[in-house]
Amino acid sequence: MSDAIRSLIAGNWKMNGLKASMAEFDAMLAGGGAFAEKTDLLVCPPATLIAAFADKAKGKGVAVGAQDCHQNASGAHTGDLSAEMLVDAGASAIIVGHSERRADHGESDALVRQKAQAVWRAGAIAIVCIGETRAQRDAGQTLDICGGQLKGSLPDGATAANLVVAYEPVWAIGTGLTPTTADVEAVHGFIRRVLTDRFKTEGGRMRILYGGSVKPSNAKELLDVANVNGALVGGASLKASDFLAIAAGC
Ligand code: PEP
Repeated sequence: MSDAIRSLIAGNWKMNGLKASMAEFDAMLAGGGAFAEKTDLLVCPPATLIAAFADKAKGKGVAVGAQDCHQNASGAHTGDLSAEMLVDAGASAIIVGHSERRADHGESDALVRQKAQAVWRAGAIAIVCIGETRAQRDAGQTLDICGGQLKGSLPDGATAANLVVAYEPVWAIGTGLTPTTADVEAVHGFIRRVLTDRFKTEGGRMRILYGGSVKPSNAKELLDVANVNGALVGGASLKASDFLAIAAGC
């Protein structure tokens, strides 16, 4: 982990969690303060829980985020939520372009870029996800795919304060598989070069998270890789003990 960049461990609860999950979140709040010196913690529950979690989290050193937003601020979009609504509920960061949304909802790089701009419009941090499929990796296209997604999904005006990039190989999400640390280093180094070429010194300070089957047993070795500035964690973020154990790897 780079000393110069404050690390971020972000939990993506996906479509998991009911009001009863407050007990698990309480346990995260109870343990989260221990990492405040060098690590930011963020939990992105389903939208239904953002307001309650954010109320509970006030002053406790764990931020609350959202998993997606609509690109518009308001209007006739039944069932959608704007970034402004999510920020109003208490979200300080919003994930956009997760591979499950790209696959399940056909989200393109252009739409992800609009969503990232919407996140900034609402005053929150955009966590933009990129990553290759298994077939693309096997075909040797990983850097091309990630480069294309970065070019298409990141708006101009990105800074280290308003943007986090999450590299999540699609084939590693929820499968228990992870790339080798050498592979992670190669992709994160490539992402860093793309960010500094385009955003200059800001690009050198942006956080690049690794995501895909991060768990307590592999967190430290992944977080120790150059240009890995934290993790985006799915399944293992649902349990406070696992989430906090991952944060301990920073
Ligand atoms: C994710 O969906 O962002 C993710 C990284 O999931 P998991 O940790 O379960 O692989």
